[in-house]
Amino acid sequence: MITVSVASGKGGAGKTSLSAAIAASLGAECVFADCDVDAANGAIALGATIATREPYFAGPGFTIATSACSGCGACHAACRFGAIEPVSGADAFRIVPELCERCGACMARCQTRAISTYEKQAGELFVSDTRMGIRLVHAELEPGEDTSGKLVALVRRRAEAIAGAHAVIVVDAPPGIGCPVIASITGCDLLTIVVEASASGIRDASRLVELAESMHRRSLGIINKAGLDADMDERALAMLAKAGIPLAGRIPFDLALRSAEESNRTWASVDCESTPKIRAALAAIKSVLDTLKEKR
Ligand code: SF4
Ligand code: SF4
Repeated sequence: MITVSVASGKGGAGKTSLSAAIAASLGAECVFADCDVDAANGAIALGATIATREPYFAGPGFTIATSACSGCGACHAACRFGAIEPVSGADAFRIVPELCERCGACMARCQTRAISTYEKQAGELFVSDTRMGIRLVHAELEPGEDTSGKLVALVRRRAEAIAGAHAVIVVDAPPGIGCPVIASITGCDLLTIVVEASASGIRDASRLVELAESMHRRSLGIINKAGLDADMDERALAMLAKAGIPLAGRIPFDLALRSAEESNRTWASVDCESTPKIRAALAAIKSVLDTLKEKR
């Protein structure tokens, strides 16, 4: 099993588009793990139909039994997150689930034992079929939930369980360089870094490059939205070269690619001016994956 993670450091750089194109070029031998659990859209890119779904529990939630609450307010005073509020028209308090950080301080203060815990659903995990025969594992986190690193790890474990010994797992990482990104690239065999040719794209990708270096990940670079600004293209190239990251390709800014995404086609199936460059980039990535496979 080989894992290729695709990350960019920023949203909107084109990592999901590239991930979907890599998956499409590999075909049914691969499993797609959409680890952008805060804004998963791999299902749109691959044209997915949900086959199975299951609840995701991140940890206990806290609740107040109004009937057992004396209204003393000790929990309200103890909560540092402003998650406890009076119940309108009653001498009691309630917990606002979206604001609760699950620290347990309120429970420790309650003399009447009105506060208890329950299994709180924090999201859902899905396994989907796609029109290309690629299995897709994806998830959705409930608004306000902050355990996305744990859910990312679960998505990857599920993808690994589905994949055969010779399969390739394509991991679409979330934006940023935080815990969910670390969970998305930990242990990957190849990290493809998508650098958007813009000031913010280069800056965010350079932070990702630092993270990849600290984690000793083998990396390839792809410059996306190239050709709009020669200076930005050069800066993106220089940033990758300085880090010793080989360039797999430059994808031009091309409205045809955007309209392909909007009509649920991947870059791999587009026929436009950018097609040769996309094919060359995908071939470069596949070549590294083939080499990694041979070494297994
Ligand atoms: S500490 Fe307990 S009894 Fe007091 S307001 Fe909170 S839940 Fe009610
Ligand atoms: S568990 Fe912590 S954050 Fe949640 S309501 Fe109680 S004191 Fe506030």
